[in-house]
Amino acid sequence: MPAGNITGIRMPMDNRKTIAIIGGGQLGLMIAREAHNLGAAVAVLDPAPDAPAFAQADRHVVGAYDDIQALEELCEGSDAVTYEFENVPGEVLRHIENKYNIRQGVAPLFDSQDRLREKANARIHGLKTPEFIPVPALDFMKPEDGEEPVPGNPEYPVPMSAADAARLSGEERIYQLEQAVSVLGMPCVLKTRTLGYDGHGQAVIREKGDLRSASDLLKVPCILEKFVDFDYEASVVMVSDGEKVIHFPIGRNIHTGGILDLSIVPAPGLSDGLEENGTGAGIALACGNFMKSCGYRGILAIELFVKGNEFYFNEMAPRPHNSGHYTIEGCSTNQYRELCRFLLGRPLETPVLLAPTVMKNILGQDLDAAKTIVAESLEGAGPGVSVSSPEEVDNAFCGVAGKGVYVHLYGKTQSRPKRKMGHITFTPMTLEEFNDRWAGRFV
Ligand code: AMP
Repeated sequence: MPAGNITGIRMPMDNRKTIAIIGGGQLGLMIAREAHNLGAAVAVLDPAPDAPAFAQADRHVVGAYDDIQALEELCEGSDAVTYEFENVPGEVLRHIENKYNIRQGVAPLFDSQDRLREKANARIHGLKTPEFIPVPALDFMKPEDGEEPVPGNPEYPVPMSAADAARLSGEERIYQLEQAVSVLGMPCVLKTRTLGYDGHGQAVIREKGDLRSASDLLKVPCILEKFVDFDYEASVVMVSDGEKVIHFPIGRNIHTGGILDLSIVPAPGLSDGLEENGTGAGIALACGNFMKSCGYRGILAIELFVKGNEFYFNEMAPRPHNSGHYTIEGCSTNQYRELCRFLLGRPLETPVLLAPTVMKNILGQDLDAAKTIVAESLEGAGPGVSVSSPEEVDNAFCGVAGKGVYVHLYGKTQSRPKRKMGHITFTPMTLEEFNDRWAGRFV
């Protein structure tokens, strides 16, 4: 990839404030739209020349995330820099940290990039997590023939370095995993510490027969977690200006094949009417206190497992979250807008849920169904009342395909199963209504 292949007009673009976004996916696209709504300009960096957010950017840079020159081109002249995904290499950000205004700072990004650090940090700052230990660990070394096992503390094992993990033989990896599983018990979940997403880089271990195939993951440092037999999953998106923390109504999330399928708000079990109740209010309070205690500013999404009245931190992301797409139409203000307000130094608005809302992710396998819903609306065959940008239906579409049916297609040029191609927000809509009227239209 040539460094910093710049297109568009160089800074200064005009007298608007400019937000620079590292990453040009759908989250960047929606941040850019709200930045424009607030009167700001947007610059976007992405390695893909057809990145969705470029369609909304005033200026864009095609370049790798670890290309310092490209990052400099992105950030030059910007008033605030943000990131729309959490795997921006930390060393790279440190290069630009003191030069440009990364308003969220690097800390929440750094803390979220490693599952071991992330979960230890959650515990230190008051959130319960599933039990976990690092593996491979120095305490679980396989003894040489005739040697005594290495004495260690299996409850607090010392993680092995990535270089040492890479040198383990297949037999040693299995031994390591057996030792770790004997500490936590089965069922448990093995996850790579870095770069995992949507269920990639993890394996559930329910019985001894699962150990061999799971142990392949131990070529890189991993974390072993106790399996939580949760009732359901939930998430909360918060924005803080350093003093005040606002949170969007908690969503109940349904995943299929490790990928978010539906978000339902208000979350059944956590709310009475549109308001959060006991456990829901407890989650909002604990997560808000966590954010304050960590000193994080900007946006933070936390995913949780809920079991009865208990909740467990699973992971966090210091960026807008897929489960927060519903806020665009479902709330009085949305996650993208509040992030932009924070970035532009404006006061935050407290969001209010306007009506029960269901958000359906449109993966590659659902794209035809989504386009049909839009087409029916355009032809007046469906329940449609108004649409915007109908000429863009094949590519990108954002509009109302029927009363309370808001379709967002991200304009990705290549569709494939499991790729996030868009989402539809149904509001007002309960899960029961969604299941009756709409669920059957998707794969
Ligand atoms: P993650 O990438 O950590 O969010 O994991 C992806 C999905 O795997 C989660 O949304 C859960 O459905 C499931 N999962 C992850 N960790 C656990 C756990 N400790 N116990 C039960 N299910 C889990």
